[in-house]
Amino acid sequence: MLEIKASETVKEGSIFGQITQMDHEQLVICHDEATGLKALIGIHNTTLGPALGGTRMWPYATEEEAITDVLRLSRGMTFKNALAGLNLGGGKAVIIGDPKLKNEAFLRRFGRFVQSLGGRYVTAEDVNMKTSDMEYIGMETKHVTGLPEIKGGGGDPSPVTAFGTYMGMKAAANKAFGSDSLEGKKICVQGVGQVGQYLIKHLVKEGAEVMITDIFEDKLKSVAKETGAVAIDPNVIYDLDMDIYAPCALGATINDETIDRLKCAVIAGGANNQLKDEAKHGQILLEKGIIYAPDFLINAGGVINVGAEYFGGYNRDIVYKQTEKIYDTCLSILNKSENEQIPAQQAAIAAAKERIEAIGRVKLPF
Ligand code: NAD
Repeated sequence: MLEIKASETVKEGSIFGQITQMDHEQLVICHDEATGLKALIGIHNTTLGPALGGTRMWPYATEEEAITDVLRLSRGMTFKNALAGLNLGGGKAVIIGDPKLKNEAFLRRFGRFVQSLGGRYVTAEDVNMKTSDMEYIGMETKHVTGLPEIKGGGGDPSPVTAFGTYMGMKAAANKAFGSDSLEGKKICVQGVGQVGQYLIKHLVKEGAEVMITDIFEDKLKSVAKETGAVAIDPNVIYDLDMDIYAPCALGATINDETIDRLKCAVIAGGANNQLKDEAKHGQILLEKGIIYAPDFLINAGGVINVGAEYFGGYNRDIVYKQTEKIYDTCLSILNKSENEQIPAQQAAIAAAKERIEAIGRVKLPF
């Protein structure tokens, strides 16, 4: 019989082309006519354990956009979970459509699809999904986490994410200034949402000079009043004189337009995918001498929280102890970046891959 090599059947840009390039195990397409559900589940790597990552609901303009997003996000979860020391692989789901489509039947149907994977994928909240949505999904599958506290879950992961981000920021400050004290440091937090608000409180408590910004003026004013931080116009942030820039809003804020304007010594924030082009902008930051704390490393507090809930016996003190370790991991990654003269993001991905490979070898084939 003629043997066909996998690489010969793969076209660049096709679904199999993308999966091969990013090294995914599985991409699941879920469809239900009755509820209007259209979802994709990406399972990137399950060497360390079940693939855990949230479900995002978004009105993607094209199917291609949704596929690219689920593949990129699930790959990111593999590295995040590995570097956080979790025994979890990387996965993510996207539901295509207006979040207003969500109702009990819609979410329970999605729960059925998650259940059909037999635990290879574990879901949780992400953009446009709430803890209450997880309750409906949880009626059809046990492979769901991030439930409300009242239902025995770990509750809102944002304070834990913010604490981990704070730990990562202190480690980066140690590297840049020779001390991890943030007292008197000029720090600008972009985005006063769930993560940003908790982070601001840690920084103010430590005596930092905190500036904050958001596109919603009312919210910005009210957080400034509550915390004592100084409100800044969102359009001037990239030109500000500051020691630390903390992106806590959307991704890709470090890009061709902003990178030369940034005058900070450190970038450390909770937002996902801060570098628009991972390789290019990571390299420019290295050359400019800006210490960059990789986002997926320092914002892992949330997944540490939902992971602890999934494995059972949830204990918030243990979750915070584990999240505190982000400080040491971040410092060792920044040292690796300096010693090997490679961007911090690249050093972090390499360390995550090393752990996956080492643990993969621990398992006996039979
Ligand atoms: P959120 O929606 O509560 O807050 C985001 C805030 O950013 C909002 O107040 C929004 O108005 C503001 N914003 C949007 N665009 C802006 C702009 N151009 N300039 C200034 N402000 C802007 O979201 P969140 O849960 O706080 O998450 C923030 C980031 O952290 C996201 O990138 C998210 O993916 C990431 N993250 C969150 C968690 C978590 O536990 N919530 C975990 C890991 C990563």
